[in-house]
Amino acid sequence: MLLFFLLNRMKSKIIKINNLLIGRFGFPSRSKVKPTPINTLIATILSQNTNDKNSYIAYKNLKANFKSWNELSSATVTEIEKLIRVGGLAKQKARAIKDLINKLKNQNKTIDLKHISKLNNRDAIIELTSFNGVGVKTASCVLLFSMNRNVCPVDTHVHRTLNRIGLVKTKSADKTFWLLNQNFPDGIAHVFHTNLIKLGRDICKSTNPLCESCPLFKICSFPQKNLKPAKKSNQTDFLLLDNI
Ligand code: SF4
Repeated sequence: MLLFFLLNRMKSKIIKINNLLIGRFGFPSRSKVKPTPINTLIATILSQNTNDKNSYIAYKNLKANFKSWNELSSATVTEIEKLIRVGGLAKQKARAIKDLINKLKNQNKTIDLKHISKLNNRDAIIELTSFNGVGVKTASCVLLFSMNRNVCPVDTHVHRTLNRIGLVKTKSADKTFWLLNQNFPDGIAHVFHTNLIKLGRDICKSTNPLCESCPLFKICSFPQKNLKPAKKSNQTDFLLLDNI
């Protein structure tokens, strides 16, 4: 009974946060053609620890040099590494991509993730995280951006902002993810996720958050709000996974 009450209270808070974010940022655009799960998985591996622009260049380099992921399977890790260097951690990411391609080829004979579509959200995440270099955030991006599941991935921005607001009190992004998604309101995962990333990048920054201009100011319980007037900062609306 208490759990039911807490889950419903969290659901109402998510809806409230979502409405306030839409009031400030609007509805984010979304690519009409969904990328395939394997494309999203590789793009998200490339996005780890770098910005969306650099990971987009790395992704485009791979696509320009290999006609298919099958062709990439015969490339060496060093060759892949050279092509994705712009995105950082190139050796580690090249190894993860190569392992992923090889595992799929050996297991399924084809390099795709069609079998994931039959699984429920939890099982799909368990399956995807069994690949080297794929964590819960990367797996949940595949579910949201390629499979249209109502799942909200939690990256560093989403984790930080939700803890500051007081929706959750967790020590890791993965814990935030499981808590947030146990009773997530229908149909709003993409807009909520995208607008929270925008909030985290442009306003609720890791140091010196611009609380004075934050749309969530009144409902946020962060005790160290920064009330200094905001300076103009560079903003970017480019989101990798809506552009591959
Ligand atoms: S009020 Fe400040 S701490 Fe709270 S969400 Fe907004 S920017 Fe972040």
